[in-house]
Amino acid sequence: MEKKAFLSSLVEYALEMVLAFDSKGIINYANAGAKEKLGYGEEIKGVHIGDIFPTVFDKTEDGFVTEYIFGGEALNMAAYRKNQTCFPTETRMIAYGDEVYVCLSNDILEKEFLSKEVVQVRYEAEQAMKVKSEFVANVTHELRTPVNGILGNVRELLEIENDAAKLKNLHLMERCCENMGMIINNILDFSKLEAGKFTLDPQKFHFKSMLDYIKDSHIRKVTEKGLDFIFSISEDIPEYVIGDELRIVQILNNLISNAVKFTAMGKICVEVVRTAQVNDRIELFFFVMDTGIGIDKKDEDKLFQSFSQVDASISRQYGGTGLGLNICKQLVELMGGTIAVESEKGKGSNFSFSIWVTVPEGEDMGDSSGYTASMPVLGQRRMLADEEEDDTRRYGSEANMEMLKKILSKLILCVEMENWEKAEGFADTVKQLTAEAPREAKSAALRLKMAIQKENYEKTAAAFETLNALME
Ligand code: ADP
Repeated sequence: MEKKAFLSSLVEYALEMVLAFDSKGIINYANAGAKEKLGYGEEIKGVHIGDIFPTVFDKTEDGFVTEYIFGGEALNMAAYRKNQTCFPTETRMIAYGDEVYVCLSNDILEKEFLSKEVVQVRYEAEQAMKVKSEFVANVTHELRTPVNGILGNVRELLEIENDAAKLKNLHLMERCCENMGMIINNILDFSKLEAGKFTLDPQKFHFKSMLDYIKDSHIRKVTEKGLDFIFSISEDIPEYVIGDELRIVQILNNLISNAVKFTAMGKICVEVVRTAQVNDRIELFFFVMDTGIGIDKKDEDKLFQSFSQVDASISRQYGGTGLGLNICKQLVELMGGTIAVESEKGKGSNFSFSIWVTVPEGEDMGDSSGYTASMPVLGQRRMLADEEEDDTRRYGSEANMEMLKKILSKLILCVEMENWEKAEGFADTVKQLTAEAPREAKSAALRLKMAIQKENYEKTAAAFETLNALME
């Protein structure tokens, strides 16, 4: 095909509208697309360009005037059909000397419609989100009132009740109410964070007292489980800092509660170091490390998503809503930091997070070199369990025997006090400590757990005796 014929057929069948007009503004060429979109036939030749784009071209006696700069950017302008209806276009025009003008134009009606639809969908989604968070806020508030009412009454009854069986039930009710209260608070926080309505409340507070408070509130549970609880705080952290104390406590409480929940033996360490400084702001790094059940590598990413629990059997055994870590992540990010986990299945988990706090005026800034001496700690992301070289888990080793004796004596004490639930926790630990033991010890540990589950005192005592004798 001849080159000229080829080019003109390209123009003729282009999906764009193509028009050519002269210095008087009279159209002398329109391709098929232009004719179809504009509703003209051959009579389009002879129509003034100002009739097609009246918002851009003014007709004059000589031809036309326009503010459009030929050869410039494509502009959005309305194109008028023969029947005087119009549609939006994106149009570019080029001038070839003073005689020939070409107009290339796209119908963008569909695009505009779609983008309007996107705006509408986004608006509706935002509205739905708003309604949802208001609903959640109302419902959680309505739930909190009766739960607090029950809790108050249960606590009053606890003070006057003497009957052991009733006391046991009342304690159970108290715990249920406390758990329910915690879940309600989590849902409320979560919905506020999701709706972007959460604001921090930074205040000056005594840093060490905050950590003491956290330690005090967990120490009972930790020691009851026979775990060691180690706190270490680097010396270059100022006495007072400005930050949202309540929320820092919330994050730490969550991580420590998880550590306690998922650790049957060994220890829990909480460490705080200062890592960076910019003007009056310092970065603090917190570590919460345990020697518990650990987390599979493939599940680590899932942890910080909302409603995510590693697996269903774990949540059945340990409870929880899977919201805690997601809330921690969002809070940490609000405080300018990040949260991460390093873990090994069966060995333990290290959770760490950073936040930025302000040093109040007049407070000693400590090291001002930017990076402090505590930095190397970050490089020591070791597993706590590695430090012990896993000796406690090696059946027959001195550490293992010592731990077994300790746990068994706690276990039997719980059985004597008919606290079967706690005894079951210790029986689990005994099972883990005897995982590599010869058959006799292993099956005694299994019988012990089953007897405790059935709350059978005789069988528990028998299995306990067998195990005790094996350790002589
Ligand atoms: P939940 O309320 O269920 O505890 P979280 O978001 O706090 O929700 O935790 C989600 C899941 O992450 C837990 O169900 C558990 O499977 C896993 N997990 C969290 N902390 C630990 C830990 N220290 N050791 C082992 N698994 C953990």
